[in-house]
Amino acid sequence: MAANSVTATPRIDLYSDTVTRPTPGMRKAIAEAEVGNEQAREDPTVNRLCEMVAELLGKEAAIFLPSGTMCNEIAYRVWVDHGEEIVLEENSHALHYETGGPAALSGAMCRTIRGKRGMFTGTELEAVIRVPHGWHGQRQRLVSIENTANLGGGAIWPLEQIEDVAAVARKHGLKLHLDGARLLNAVVASGIPASAYAASADSAWIDLSKGLGCPVGGVLAGSRDFIEQAWRFKHQFGGAMRQAGIIAAAGVYALENHVERMAEDHANARLLAEGLAGIKGIGINPNEIDTNMVYFTVGGTGLTEQEFARRLLADHGVRIGPQGKDLMRAVTHLDVSRADIEEAIRACAAVVKG
Ligand SMILES: *Cc1c(COP(=O)(O)O)cnc(C)c1O
Repeated sequence: MAANSVTATPRIDLYSDTVTRPTPGMRKAIAEAEVGNEQAREDPTVNRLCEMVAELLGKEAAIFLPSGTMCNEIAYRVWVDHGEEIVLEENSHALHYETGGPAALSGAMCRTIRGKRGMFTGTELEAVIRVPHGWHGQRQRLVSIENTANLGGGAIWPLEQIEDVAAVARKHGLKLHLDGARLLNAVVASGIPASAYAASADSAWIDLSKGLGCPVGGVLAGSRDFIEQAWRFKHQFGGAMRQAGIIAAAGVYALENHVERMAEDHANARLLAEGLAGIKGIGINPNEIDTNMVYFTVGGTGLTEQEFARRLLADHGVRIGPQGKDLMRAVTHLDVSRADIEEAIRACAAVVKG
């Protein structure tokens, strides 16, 4: 705990669930992976991973990609042409954290909906539908949703709400894309199968490098025809690989070993939220913690979010990311224990006390 600079390595890192290191079991699976030429579709481990994810999501086929971002961007590229429109919630990852990818790579217009906790309803979607498409409005092509909703606080979409949105999309001839970076968190927390969440989506993906704890990758699924088109853009965007079974093996291992354990991350997020709620000046509603994300405000403590984060790291070795004015985000994952969470709560209390 000699940490006295903001660049110090945190002892307890709640910055994101992307900070996990491969476990010994995962490293062993990586070391022993059977490999081949992925871009010729000859890597047996990649093929196995894709079959597993296609089955998990109830789709005909799947494709392995280097990142979740590429899963979104390739799906958009398949569904949308230049000048056409994607409808998303206004706090979507694709809108804020993919460096303008939808515009840069697909030439897409993005129409936003102000939902609640990153989610919207069929009625709210209906309100932004351009009817009829007419001759001088852009063509709407796609609705893109996130489950769980990241900036929505890791919120889980109710299944009926997805079906409601999907029905409106379908009625107007729009495709539905499911950004499932943390879909398995929703599955573990709700008990609803991934295939049920993805059933009304034309394309859906899961991230391997978030709660599942892999070093790299995402897997995008859809119809056989959709995946064939995705392959073309995978090459075009530079995402085709060679002996990628080395990294896909981590995905296979994680799907077999790291899914159910995410319940611990959710319990830890709850514990953290309840602890933070007891600290004067911190704003949080523990009842809104659905999964592994804990957003809270520090405005009432007299510290800015930057100062709060700086002191927490420098004085206590705990990293929690500042996320905008007065706002902080903590994310639980497989490299933090219950004891770490208890310590993080004590550290936050100490920072507030000054
Ligand atoms: C992390 C994330 C992505 C992007 O995934 P990467 O693997 O980081 O490229 C997309 N959507 C959501 C909701 C995310 O949280």
